[in-house]
Amino acid sequence: MTETGATSVPGLAEIADIGRDTVRGGYSRHLFDEADRQLREWFVARAAGIGLDVDHDRNGNIWAWWGPPGPGALVTGSHLDSVPGGGAFDGPLGVVSALDAVQRLMVSGFRPSRPVAVVVFAEEEGSRFGVACLGSKLLSGGLAAGTALALTDASGCTLAEVMAAAGLDPARAGRDDALLSRIGLFLELHVEQGRGLIDLGVPVGVASSVLGHGRWRLRFAGQGNHAGTTLMSDRRDPMVAAGATIAQIADLARARAGARATVGRVDAAPGGTNVIASRVDVWLDSRAEEDEVTRALVAEIGATAAAHAAAQGCTAELTEQSWSGTVHFPDGPRMAIGEALGAVPALPTGAGHDAAVLAAAVPTAMLYVRNPTGISHAPEEFASAEDCAAGVDALETALRSLAGRS
Ligand SMILES: [Zn+2]
Repeated sequence: MTETGATSVPGLAEIADIGRDTVRGGYSRHLFDEADRQLREWFVARAAGIGLDVDHDRNGNIWAWWGPPGPGALVTGSHLDSVPGGGAFDGPLGVVSALDAVQRLMVSGFRPSRPVAVVVFAEEEGSRFGVACLGSKLLSGGLAAGTALALTDASGCTLAEVMAAAGLDPARAGRDDALLSRIGLFLELHVEQGRGLIDLGVPVGVASSVLGHGRWRLRFAGQGNHAGTTLMSDRRDPMVAAGATIAQIADLARARAGARATVGRVDAAPGGTNVIASRVDVWLDSRAEEDEVTRALVAEIGATAAAHAAAQGCTAELTEQSWSGTVHFPDGPRMAIGEALGAVPALPTGAGHDAAVLAAAVPTAMLYVRNPTGISHAPEEFASAEDCAAGVDALETALRSLAGRS
């Protein structure tokens, strides 16, 4: 479905062969890897091809300007990176729709009253360095440059090293007030990552809010030992504590209305079949509309982990990796877009986005395109060619209306 779905959308067909994951299915496109490099090259060529001026900012994000960069700019775009084994639409749909919508405005002879730009944000999924929306967080100051540059990928390379290898100066990374001051509004189009538009029976909606969300690491530590010679009574096995904790997490989340908690990744060290683990890292993602609910749930999971660890003679340590509170998109842009598009529903989402990160620094808004599978971050993620076309129409209409305002 991913292949036929993606290739029936013209812009997505152009990048359909970049970063395919033959093991997991779908795509694995991670910051500054070969796939990401090819996608960046594609974007630069595509943007230049329609007459936009391409600029690379200090934080790995790419900007393509229609008209001289200046204050009040109307910016649209999204990201090109993916989760491991992700779908074809999450991110790239917003980029190709932005290019198509801006190109249509240019070809039609429309003269915007403010600068217009298409942006590609770096490492939105956090798949390489573990922090989602890295590019927009650096740009907006949501993450300190020093903290970000010290982050390491799975092979131990720091972000600073990877940026330098990609031709960026790590010393210049961080909040970019000059660039922020140019953004009048960031409008991101994105495939919906849930069931809101399916249930409403409409192809396009606007975003009302993004649920608060964060990532935590639960580190269980015990005693590595021989799987054959160590009696069951003599073990301090962190895997047993980790497993017991994981088994309880779903019930702890279900007990709080609207809360979500997920363990999608477990790393055992040393990781041998005939070795009792010495350490198990469990990565927790938790979200809820009310930030206090997420906080309380994560604290409860931490206490549960500590109890299970103690029962096995192990320890458990809870460390916050990232946290973003619930973001309510501003009423002004959302209402202006609603006015331009006619009746479109406003939806909350449990997925994080660059538009939500940037909302702390500049006005932002989002459009969603229906995803009939309701599945995302997996190869089954989908949007029909008709709905993607409706998304480009909506984006063009919104940009035309907003670019006509001061
Ligand atoms: Zn996305």
